[in-house]
Amino acid sequence: MKKKLFLLFASFIVLTLKAQEHKHVILVTIDGFRPDFYFEDKWNTPNLKQMLREGVHAYGVNSVFPSVTYPSHTTIVTGVQPADHGIYFNGVFEPDSTTGKIYWNFNEITSPTIWKAAKSAGLKVASLMWPASAGAPIDFNISDIGSMGEEVREKYAWPKGIMDTIRREVFSGKQEIKWGEDEYNAQTAAWVIRNKKPNLMTIHLISVDHAEHTVGREGQMVEDAIHEADRSIGIIRQAIKDAGMEHNTLLIVTGDHGFYNVEKSINPNVWLAKAGLLDPQDESNWKARFFQVGGAAFLFLRDEHDQQTKKQVLKMLKSLPSEEKKYFRIVDAAQMKEIGANPHVSFALSGLSGAAFGKEVTGEAILSGEGGTHGYFPNTRNIQTGFIAIAPNIKKGLEIKQLDLRDVTVFVKEYLNLDLPTARGRSSVKYYNAVN
Ligand SMILES: [Zn+2]
Repeated sequence: MKKKLFLLFASFIVLTLKAQEHKHVILVTIDGFRPDFYFEDKWNTPNLKQMLREGVHAYGVNSVFPSVTYPSHTTIVTGVQPADHGIYFNGVFEPDSTTGKIYWNFNEITSPTIWKAAKSAGLKVASLMWPASAGAPIDFNISDIGSMGEEVREKYAWPKGIMDTIRREVFSGKQEIKWGEDEYNAQTAAWVIRNKKPNLMTIHLISVDHAEHTVGREGQMVEDAIHEADRSIGIIRQAIKDAGMEHNTLLIVTGDHGFYNVEKSINPNVWLAKAGLLDPQDESNWKARFFQVGGAAFLFLRDEHDQQTKKQVLKMLKSLPSEEKKYFRIVDAAQMKEIGANPHVSFALSGLSGAAFGKEVTGEAILSGEGGTHGYFPNTRNIQTGFIAIAPNIKKGLEIKQLDLRDVTVFVKEYLNLDLPTARGRSSVKYYNAVN
C-alpha cells in the first residue's frame, strides 16, 4: 500500500513538472500554399501528406482582403484583420509618388502580436523571413524586408552577429545566403530549433509563390517548388525531433493565400484618366486613383469624403461595355468593412474571368496577361490557403471544413497559453483529444 501511494505521489510530481514545462509552437507558412498540394496525388509532397494523417487539417483557409502576403502574415501573428493591424497591403499607397515604399517594419503593426505576448510570458521567440517583423520583440530574428535590400536585412537581424553565426554554422562560411531558397531557410530554421529550442518560431518559406506568379497554378516550376517546400518541412520536423521537443510541440504548416491563373491585365486608371479624374502626365494631380495589388484594385479618393467623385467613378464603371465589365466585380464599402480591409479606401475591384490589375494610365485599359496572381476577395476556392497541424494529443486525420487566418493565431495562443485578448479567431480546443 505504501509503495502504491509512493508511486502515485511520484507520478503526480512528474505530471506537475510536465505541466509546468514550457511548450513549443513552430509555425511555418508556405507562401501561396494551396490545399490541393496536400490533397492531390500529383504533387510530390510526402511530408505534408504524412502530417495530414497524423494531425488535423483544413479543407480550406480564408485569407484577408487583399489576399496578399504582408497583410495575411500580419493577421496570422495578431489574430485581427488589416483594418485593425494596419498592414493594409504589401506596398504603401503613396498619394503623390510611386517610390515603391513597402510595409516592412514591426513598428507599423498597430495590434498586439503573438511574438510580444510570448516574450511577455517569458518564452523564447524566434522568427525567420517573416513579413513586417524587422525590429520586432523577437530573441532570434532574420526578417523578410521585401525590396529593402540585404543591408537592411542584416542591420535588423537580431541578436547582433546572428548572420555571421548562421553563415559559419549553416553555410560553411559562405558570404551570400540565398534567402529565396526554401531548403536553405529550412536549414537555418533547423539550426535555430536545435540550438536555441525556441518556444515560438515563425518561419516563412517563399519560393512556391514565386513559381506560381511565373507560371500560374500548374507547371514544372510549381511542382519543383512545392516539392522543395515539402522537403523543407521534413528538415524542420527532423530538427524538432533532434532538439527533443517532439513530445510538447505544435507544428503548424499553413499559408497566406491561394492563386489564380492570369489571362488579362485590367488597367482601371486608364478609365479614370479618360474621365478626367487623373492626369496621366502628373502623378500628383488626381481626384480618384486605383491602387492595384494583383487580383484587386483599391479606389482612393484625394478627399476620402468626396461622395460626388465616388458616384462618378461608380457610374463610369457601370457604363462600361459588358465585355469589359465581365473582368471585375465591385467590392462595396459595406463588404470592405465586414472583411476588415483598409478603412481609407472608397471601394475595391476584385478580378474575374482570368483578370488581374495593371498600373498603366495610358493606352488600352485591357491588355493580355500571363502567369498567376492573388489579392482577390477571399471568398473563392482558388484563393483559399491550406492548414495542417500536428501535436501530441491532436486528433489524427481530422478535417476542419473552414478556418480563417485569425483561427491560426488562436491555435498558437491556446497551445502556449498566451495572454492575447485582442485575437479574434475561434478556439482550437475541440481539435485535441481530452486528457484523462
Ligand atoms: Zn504570399
